[in-house]
Amino acid sequence: MLPKSLTQLADRFSALPGIGPKSALRLAVYCLSLEDKALHEFAKSLETIKSEVKYCQTCGNFSEDTECNYCIATDRSDNQILVVESPLDVSVFIPTDYKGKFHVLGGLISPLTGVGPDKLNIAKLISRVQGQPEVEVILACPTSLEGEATAVFISQKLTQLTQDITGKSAKPKYKLKITRLGTGMPSNSTLEYQDSRTLGFSLQNRIEL
Ligand SMILES: [Zn+2]
Repeated sequence: MLPKSLTQLADRFSALPGIGPKSALRLAVYCLSLEDKALHEFAKSLETIKSEVKYCQTCGNFSEDTECNYCIATDRSDNQILVVESPLDVSVFIPTDYKGKFHVLGGLISPLTGVGPDKLNIAKLISRVQGQPEVEVILACPTSLEGEATAVFISQKLTQLTQDITGKSAKPKYKLKITRLGTGMPSNSTLEYQDSRTLGFSLQNRIEL
């Protein structure tokens, strides 16, 4: 029978996504073999991760400051905002030619799990768009049902910005273009697992909505 503290640590590992009971036990045993210093550093990282990693106030990406590195980057254009589901999706676009800004929704609209538009970082996107005289919003939601529903909702909200109360197209104070990723994206896929060439191709071939 294994010591209680070892099975407890294994239980904690197996609670993590993608870790089965066997791998969890292997990781727990591996921890035992680590030098004290390495083990303390590992424990410290776990302890501080929540307090050190925050969300960028502008785009919702991970950040250790009020604004993330991409929002403050001077070599990235404010005229393009690429909208993604999660902060992990931002990093997959970094090796591509894309040189605009990002916006992280923090999830997708999902009536089944009770996630409505109000739970997502959409209001902030609208105010960012309103603050730009000329902007292209590139919707890079996944090609799932939830992703489609989210893209349609955002695109309708943004289109409303350029229409007056009678529904006619008003003379917009700014130029707004709404696009989405084009061919190259497999259906029902998550961005996180796409290679940068595929994403670069989808970006080049984006479709105007
Ligand atoms: Zn940011």
